[in-house]
Amino acid sequence: MKKIYLFIFIAFFNVFCNSKPEKSSSQDSYKEAKANYLRMYKLLPDLKPINKSKEHIIRVLYVEDPLLPSLSKEQKVNLLSETEKLTYKLLGYRISFKVIGKENIKSFFNRMRVSFKKPEFRYPILYWPVPITNTKKILSVVKKAIRKHDNTTLERYFGKPSSGKSMANHIFKLFMKRINAIYNEKDQNGKPLFNRERSEWFSFPHWDVIAYNLKDADFIITNIVLASSESTMPIYVINRGGVTSAFVENNFHNDYKAVGVFATYQYISKGKYFIKKRGVIPNNLLIPVMSHIFVHEMGHFLMRLDEYYNLKGSVHVAPIDLNYLKWYKSIDPSAHPMKPKEMKILKKY
Ligand SMILES: [Zn+2]
Repeated sequence: MKKIYLFIFIAFFNVFCNSKPEKSSSQDSYKEAKANYLRMYKLLPDLKPINKSKEHIIRVLYVEDPLLPSLSKEQKVNLLSETEKLTYKLLGYRISFKVIGKENIKSFFNRMRVSFKKPEFRYPILYWPVPITNTKKILSVVKKAIRKHDNTTLERYFGKPSSGKSMANHIFKLFMKRINAIYNEKDQNGKPLFNRERSEWFSFPHWDVIAYNLKDADFIITNIVLASSESTMPIYVINRGGVTSAFVENNFHNDYKAVGVFATYQYISKGKYFIKKRGVIPNNLLIPVMSHIFVHEMGHFLMRLDEYYNLKGSVHVAPIDLNYLKWYKSIDPSAHPMKPKEMKILKKY
């Protein structure tokens, strides 16, 4: 009984006597957006294992920016057929890609835009991207990311800071230099890569939301570069100046409950930054290198694998920088398929 009186008193007190200042609406909308997103994520059913004994058809859609370089028709065919073969060889899954078409990136984003407005995706759309002018926030993102790793791993990725400088500051400076250098590469009109329109096309959060909501394909291959700064980034993305080579995310609609996005700009750009950081990949190795990255994604897509940092010779460890050729050469085909007990299976991406 006492509890009920107390409850009534508190309710009245709240209605009539609450003199606390109102929370700002932006803080409310942040909390609400985050809660909506987390609720959606929590309600996703657990991923099911994908049957290894049957062949899987994977629908591919090309999404292209006409002012950026793209693979030739022949290279596209080769990339898919090489990936099919390698997926069987390294992972043991039989897959077959089915190309469903090619779409201009502008029209593609226009038709996907409706998903950016869904309440459960306001959080990634509004609060994940961090403008590269917001250096204070980027420094705090770096600090958060490096807390998860020991110094040996950090030095392997970023080298040692010069004496008297903190590791966080060293990494922050590298990141800023790299992402600015990427954004200043030139498109085929001679204009800087980064502009207002492309800020969405280059944004990982926007592609992430697209992956959840895509209906007509299972994998997108796009000629843009996925390079952006976000409120959370793994260290290998920070090290590449915000570049995500490719990723796999939950999907509401297809049987795999997963969609992958594979970007190609960083392999074929002849811009200053990528030539310097990636080097020149000889023509005869371009498709082998790219198809191994694709197989890394197939590990996430088909086997529901987590991200790995320390499996020697494994295709399941993402490249630590943009030197994809070096990464490719370090892969030991005999280590695959990896022993299942070494692998961590995800319930959700
Ligand atoms: Zn990965």
